[in-house]
Amino acid sequence: MPDNTANPQTAIVWFRQDLRVADNPALSYACRHFEHVIPLYIWDPETEGGWPPGAASRCWLHHSLKALDHSLRQLDSRLVIYAGDSHAILEELIRKYGVDGVFWNRRYEPAVQTRDAHIKAFLKNQLNLECRSFNAWLWREPSELKTGQGNPYRVFTPLWKRMLQDWRQPAVYPIPEKIPQKQSLPQGKPVDQLALLPAINWDQSFYLYWQPGEQGAWSQLKRFREGPLDDYLDDRDIPSVEGISRLSPHLHFGEISVGQIIHTLCPDGNPPVDRQKTGYLRQLAWREFSWYLLCHFPQLPEQPLYSKFAGFPWRTKSSYRSDLIAWQKGMTGIPIIDAGMRELWTTGWMHNRVRMLTASFLTKNLLIPWQEGQAWFWDTLVDADLANNSQGWQWVAGCGADAAPYFRIFNPVTQGERFDPEGHYVRRWVPELAAINGKAIHAPWRLRQGILEEAGSAPDNGYPQPIVNLKTTRERALSAYQQIR
Ligand SMILES: Cc1cc2nc3c(=O)[nH]c(=O)nc-3n(C[C@H](O)[C@H](O)[C@H](O)COP(=O)(O)OP(=O)(O)OC[C@H]3O[C@@H](n4cnc5c(N)ncnc54)[C@H](O)[C@@H]3O)c2cc1C
Repeated sequence: MPDNTANPQTAIVWFRQDLRVADNPALSYACRHFEHVIPLYIWDPETEGGWPPGAASRCWLHHSLKALDHSLRQLDSRLVIYAGDSHAILEELIRKYGVDGVFWNRRYEPAVQTRDAHIKAFLKNQLNLECRSFNAWLWREPSELKTGQGNPYRVFTPLWKRMLQDWRQPAVYPIPEKIPQKQSLPQGKPVDQLALLPAINWDQSFYLYWQPGEQGAWSQLKRFREGPLDDYLDDRDIPSVEGISRLSPHLHFGEISVGQIIHTLCPDGNPPVDRQKTGYLRQLAWREFSWYLLCHFPQLPEQPLYSKFAGFPWRTKSSYRSDLIAWQKGMTGIPIIDAGMRELWTTGWMHNRVRMLTASFLTKNLLIPWQEGQAWFWDTLVDADLANNSQGWQWVAGCGADAAPYFRIFNPVTQGERFDPEGHYVRRWVPELAAINGKAIHAPWRLRQGILEEAGSAPDNGYPQPIVNLKTTRERALSAYQQIR
């Protein structure tokens, strides 16, 4: 029996991007050591650096907070929500409720880390509180892993090999049996008052595809483990097939942890021998690599990691504005690009292969700076993630760590023919082309007018002609690159 008389009284568990009750080390710690636990969420986008959550992320967050509140109520508690400056709100609650300890799970965005370090120093040194943070976000702490020369890794494969050789199974914490409560909780405000949802509900279609929250995360993992995982390496590049786990938004909001996924896939605590599982963990390690890079190179979201790209001759904003809008709306006239951009708008998510193609088309064929694409993804993705998004864009643009060489420019027609050979993916998202059979759908401009009309896809059905010539814009991109080589 724990000696309750020895327990200090009140703890705050500050939820952030760890919106779950299972495997939540901060929550577990507070529930084990305190008599009264206040589960707190603070909506404070102002102190997160220049990257407050985008519109689609806010929609997800709204539902995820509701789901967390529901889970906490099942443990005889609830989520206490405030909006405003984190430091000021914490200080006020600490004084008003006589709080003895504050606990949270770490975030790794550079601006958030700086803010949190100040708050921690203040709570410990000025208020004499117990204050601890935990890793509930990453498989390995970025500071643990360095090359033989003591430098940060800039290449993925050696980092991944090291993680496999030096296998560490993250600890996983059970759901607390109960969240101790000795007095009433602070009032807080209802989640609706955060006004995270848009005035016009353009997000309605998201929920046909997603269930934000811990339960939704576990149903995705179950679906994946009981089917697609067996063929992951074969199917992960086929956008018309549900061959992937679709866990990215759940991971981003911390509704499931990387540790829980590893435990589910490797219950014996050893690295998997199965190549499909290893292939899947390798992708999770790309997430680690992105966060590792962001921690070691905090300029990743704003500046190219290869500094020579700072002088890249991008087109000027006034000359590319209409092309950017066509790309955002899925009206470029290049079917697989438009399919991806429309999937993004409708579902808040896009398949990884198509993310690479749309990003390559924007940065290379349209010669638009990668930061424009990164910003659009940031606003429209439900999994918008500072490290993965920045790393993904820099990788495709050729300016990131371990990036694809600039001169490897994806041809969206041949890529479409290869990864969507029957055209199922394009047909689903670009209904104007639905009547074209087979892989011809990837280059409708090649079809003779008569065939197009027969297929119901004559130009007057609204689908545009390509806004650029793929061959000449490829050459333009290569000669732009020559200027910074
Ligand atoms: C231009 C661009 C932008 C991207 N922006 C984001 C973003 O904002 N948020 C985001 O989570 N991912 C981003 N990615 C990575 C990747 O596209 C998504 O993680 C993936 O599509 C999510 O689907 P999934 O969960 O089914 O992936 P799965 O194939 O099932 O992989 C499992 C998990 O591994 C991680 N992962 C997989 N591939 C990558 C990768 N290439 N880089 C980093 N992590 C990876 C993700 O956490 C993913 O949920 C981006 C990629 C590109 C090329």
